[in-house]
This record gives sequence, C-alpha cells and structure tokens, in this order.
Amino acid sequence: MRKQSPARPTVAVIGGGYAGSNVAKQLDEAAEVVLVEPKDAFVHNVAALRALADPSWLPRIYFPYDGLLERGRVIRDRASKVDAGRVTLAYGQEIPADYIVLATGSAYPFPAKSDLDSTAAAHDKTLAAHAALAAAGRVLLLGAGPVGVELAGEITATWPNKDVTLIDPAGDILGARFRPELKAEIRRQLSEIGVHVLLGSQLAAGPPGEPGELGTFTVRTDSGVELTADIWFRCYGVRPVSDYLAGSLAGARQPDGRVEVAPSLQVIGQGRVFALGDVATADHPMAGAAGRQAAIVAANIRAFITGQGELAEYEAPPPGIVVPLGPHGGAGQRGGQDALLPAEVVAELKGRDMMVDRFIELLGVPVSGAPVGTDGTPG
Ligand SMILES: Cc1cc2nc3c(=O)[nH]c(=O)nc-3n(C[C@H](O)[C@H](O)[C@H](O)COP(=O)(O)OP(=O)(O)OC[C@H]3O[C@@H](n4cnc5c(N)ncnc54)[C@H](O)[C@@H]3O)c2cc1C
Repeated sequence: MRKQSPARPTVAVIGGGYAGSNVAKQLDEAAEVVLVEPKDAFVHNVAALRALADPSWLPRIYFPYDGLLERGRVIRDRASKVDAGRVTLAYGQEIPADYIVLATGSAYPFPAKSDLDSTAAAHDKTLAAHAALAAAGRVLLLGAGPVGVELAGEITATWPNKDVTLIDPAGDILGARFRPELKAEIRRQLSEIGVHVLLGSQLAAGPPGEPGELGTFTVRTDSGVELTADIWFRCYGVRPVSDYLAGSLAGARQPDGRVEVAPSLQVIGQGRVFALGDVATADHPMAGAAGRQAAIVAANIRAFITGQGELAEYEAPPPGIVVPLGPHGGAGQRGGQDALLPAEVVAELKGRDMMVDRFIELLGVPVSGAPVGTDGTPG
C-alpha cells in the first residue's frame, strides 16, 4: 500500500515546542531531522506563570536545543511558507523534505507565552513585569479560564496581601469542558485565598496601557461596577499559528486557524504532511496531548519509512486537567475518574515542580546544571 522511501529521508519539523521537540527526538535515529524554530531555546511555558511570580524559576523554563538531537539539526529561523514537500524559511533558504510535521502551536498573551525569540530578552520582559507586579497592590486579571485562575493562585501564593480580581463574561470559571464539582472546588479555594471572582461580567472598555505595566487605573464593568487596580494581565486569547500554510496545504486551515487532521494526524488531503499539538484539530490545546500525539506522528512516519506496519490513530481522552493554585493548592479532574484530584495530588503532579524534570530529560540538559524536582503528569 505504502511505498518505501529511500534510506534516511528528510523530516522537516516546523516548531520546537512540546509537540515538535518530541517528534524530532523520536525520529532522530530513523531520519534526517531538520527542526525549524525561531527561538533560541525550548520554552517550558507550562511554568511561565510561576516564573512571573518567582523569577528564580526562569533558568528552569528555557532550555537550549543543543542536547535535543544527536544526528539531526536545529535551524534557528521561522518557516514563512510551507507547502507539501517544501519549507521556505524567513531568511529565504528552502528545505525540500520527504515528510513535514507542522508543530507551530499557538500564541497566547504574555505572561502565559513568550512572543520573544531571544531567551535573554524574554527573561528581561518577565523580570520587568515581576518588578511591576511586586509594586502593585491591586491586580486585575481579565479571563477566569485555567490561565487566569492559575495566575491568581501564583500571585497570592507569593504575595498573600495583594488584592486580586478575576473577571470573566462567562457564568463560571475554567470554561465549558470541566466538571461543575471541579469549578466549585476551585472557586472555594479562590475565595479562601481572598481572590475576588466576578463572573458574567465584562469591562465596558479595556484597561489603559499595556498588560504587565505599573499604573493605577479605574475601569467599569458593563453592569456599572467600578474596579481600580495598579496592573492588569490578559488571560485569554489562544491563537493557533498557521499563517505560513501555502499551496495545497492552505485548504486544511480552519477558520479558527487550526489545521484539520485525520486520526492518523496526517493533514487532511495529504499523505506525508502531519500536524499535531495546539495547531492541529486532533484535541484541545494541552502539552500532554501534544506529547501523546508526538508518539503517533513519529510511529506513522517510521511506518512509512520502513514500509511496515499500519498507521496508528490518535484518540482524544476524556477531559482532564490539573489546576494548581500556587505550589500547594488547587484541584484537578481525570477522565474516567469520579473523585476530584485533591490539592496534595495537584501539587505532586504540577504545583511543586511544574513538570520541569521531563523537559530537562527531553532537551538533554546536563544533570549538573539541572534543578531538582519530581516528575508529574500533564493534565
Ligand atoms: C500558562 C499555561 C499553562 C499551561 N499548563 C498546562 C499543563 O499543565 N498541562 C498541559 O497539558 N498543558 C498546559 N498548557 C498548554 C500547553 O502549554 C500547550 O498545549 C503547549 O504549549 C502546546 O505545545 P505545542 O508544541 O503544540 O505548541 P507551542 O508550545 O506553542 O510550540 C510551538 C513552537 O513553534 C514555534 N513556531 C511558531 N511559528 C513558527 C514558524 N512559522 N516557524 C517555525 N517555528 C514556529 C514557536 O516558537 C514555538 O516554539 C499550558 C499553557 C499555558 C499558556
């Protein structure tokens, strides 16, 4: 059915986040892997909110790509145009590829994700926002999804006396996917740590200035409630990154920016182009899902290369999440499990070490330079 490719074909992996780094590593032995990534380091953004509250975490969330691949190479550039079989980089270089893996993820407003390609510049931006946050008495967080809730927990764990308000137009926190019991438990804990939660409310007009900058302001909700704060952050707005798709691939781009894939994670209508992680339609945007999909993509490309085996398929698991509120609080739910995950389990899985260890291992960071932590399971 499938034709065997020549020995060691080229696999171009576009994007070196959770999805792309995993695929690249898993295919390093079997193919000529070329990983295209504009950032000078892998960013473990799952811990980005912790690093805002406690910048001593910064060295633990940016890992250079030097130790990721033994045979393959990492090209520090951005794909500006990707069509089936060919990748064009922003600096003009063209990479012909037998297989292409789209793993360009999603953008999210700072501080949840970084829009800077240089680690030094990203550290400086976080340090500046940390200093502004430290000096602010009142904090307004727009959006009470997992990011807003987690950020409220990080801020109050570091500065218990700050006045933190979460506001969201939805009727409840965390979005639609998760269980009412989980939302109720997180709301209870937020109230216990003094976070104000304003649901079913939105601002009549956005706050002035940029997020993460110090400056007192007053805004009004559409129902007339006045809120005064010294700093604000935008905690909503995940945006899949797929603007580079061209030619026959452009048709797979959905109106929301995600790339439509089959259960085999092949881009719809394509044989040798795959997409996974936040940029693909296979599942919700979670690093855990990206990791599981990476194993499927790597197995399927290996099956093509060897001409052996059937294509594996990705099946999205039932909704699961761990929501830390600082290093020790929070709750979670696991698919197929009735009982909520209590704070101690959430701390063990994520809150305490923010899952740093597994990425130290993936990126091949020398152990002597590695921080100590325990392993966890992404939500
Ligand atoms: C604050 C926060 C906490 C989170 N916590 C959890 C959690 O606990 N558990 C969990 O499972 N998920 C969590 N998530 C979700 C998780 O971060 C995402 O699902 C994950 O980042 C998706 O990985 P990805 O590799 O698909 O994309 P990304 O991590 O976004 O990586 C994409 C990469 O592609 C690169 N890129 C973009 N455009 C181009 C281009 N044109 N050419 C080349 N490269 C390009 C980018 O620079 C980036 O390095 C969290 C998210 C946030 C924001």
